[in-house]
Amino acid sequence: MDFDGLFNEQLDVLKDEGNYRIFAELERRCGAFPRARSHDDDAPDEVTVWCSNDYLGMGQNTEVRAAMKRVIDECGAGAGGTRNISGTNHHHKVLEAELADLHGKESALLFTSGYVSNWAALSTLGARLPDAVILSDELNHASMIEGMRHARCQKVIWKHNDPEDLDRKLTALPSNATKIVAFESVYSMDGDICPMQEIVEVAEKHGAMTYLDEVHAVGLYGPRGGGISEREGLADRITLIEGTLGKAYGVVGGYITGSEALCDFVRSFASGFIFTTALPPAVAAGATTSIRHLKASSAERKRQREQVAKLRAALDREGIPHLPNPSHIIPVMIKDPVKCRQIADILMQDYGIYVQPINYPTVPKGTERLRFTPGPLHTDGDIDRLVTALKTLWKQCAIAHQVA
Ligand code: PMP
Repeated sequence: MDFDGLFNEQLDVLKDEGNYRIFAELERRCGAFPRARSHDDDAPDEVTVWCSNDYLGMGQNTEVRAAMKRVIDECGAGAGGTRNISGTNHHHKVLEAELADLHGKESALLFTSGYVSNWAALSTLGARLPDAVILSDELNHASMIEGMRHARCQKVIWKHNDPEDLDRKLTALPSNATKIVAFESVYSMDGDICPMQEIVEVAEKHGAMTYLDEVHAVGLYGPRGGGISEREGLADRITLIEGTLGKAYGVVGGYITGSEALCDFVRSFASGFIFTTALPPAVAAGATTSIRHLKASSAERKRQREQVAKLRAALDREGIPHLPNPSHIIPVMIKDPVKCRQIADILMQDYGIYVQPINYPTVPKGTERLRFTPGPLHTDGDIDRLVTALKTLWKQCAIAHQVA
């Protein structure tokens, strides 16, 4: 049986569409972020990374690295088991307490990634709560969609960021349903932010639970980095806040926070929590250090915002269209998968500028884009070089007028 033939048939379709993924092989250079060494033959040895989700450079922060090294020497490399069987380390408990405090909740629960936390928590809630219905924003992340699929409960999709549509859909449900409204604060691909107050009010009106993904907001928004829910003073009205330790906090892992009973429920029933090896203690210690740092320091957030504003202004000056949004994510729309890849390749090869083309299925076909995430460590010179390169490419690739 020619199994490879079966695989290649589908891979060829991706290649023909221009949607085949090619990864840049990088070595992030500690202390030099956003510089990285490239191992790709076609690229310069050193490149500048413009698309990292290590939004604040915390992955290279001296205190975070020191905490991780110290705990590796104290506790060893791995956790040694699942949380249930010998793998619960003191450093996990310290981190969970820190996360509960970050969101002003009674309790928190760690997972091996943000993806797993969404999948495990949402599937458990949907599967186990009586007559559960999950109402999902139409642009929710794949990890929430997988969680809903696995829950096998009723699902209702509401229009993106549209509390009125949510209201209509909640009204249509039977009163005995356990309703779970699932949504995100900052949407990663368009960089838009949800109308949280209105969504919470609609959910409260219908007695619905709120499930909020703050993956692209924790560490970045709110006076202590508690996300948009902290910034808007709404955290105590959200039933469950989910986040990641792998983006603004620069390490890896995911979590949920909520009431003690909620976290105990997920801890007790979620297979994605129970049946997998716990995060290494050193990772937990690094994340705790990173969260504490960003609770106390706003310097990184402030500088990030400045660099985001500078890049937006420079793009505007040169007439390079980007999606207007109130977040730190700058999507430059190309709307063609082949051109998107072509521009990214030229940026990398000729200018040492690395930005990953974002194509289908990450975004809908026809909305292919370059997604820039300026951070506190990008210099003004980096911004100038990027915009100069884009300006040249816009002319070379003749895309100026087809981009809206
Ligand atoms: N939620 C959203 C909205 C995301 O964009 C992502 C990752 N890109 C995740 C969850 C998963 O988080 P992690 O990378 O920690 O698995």
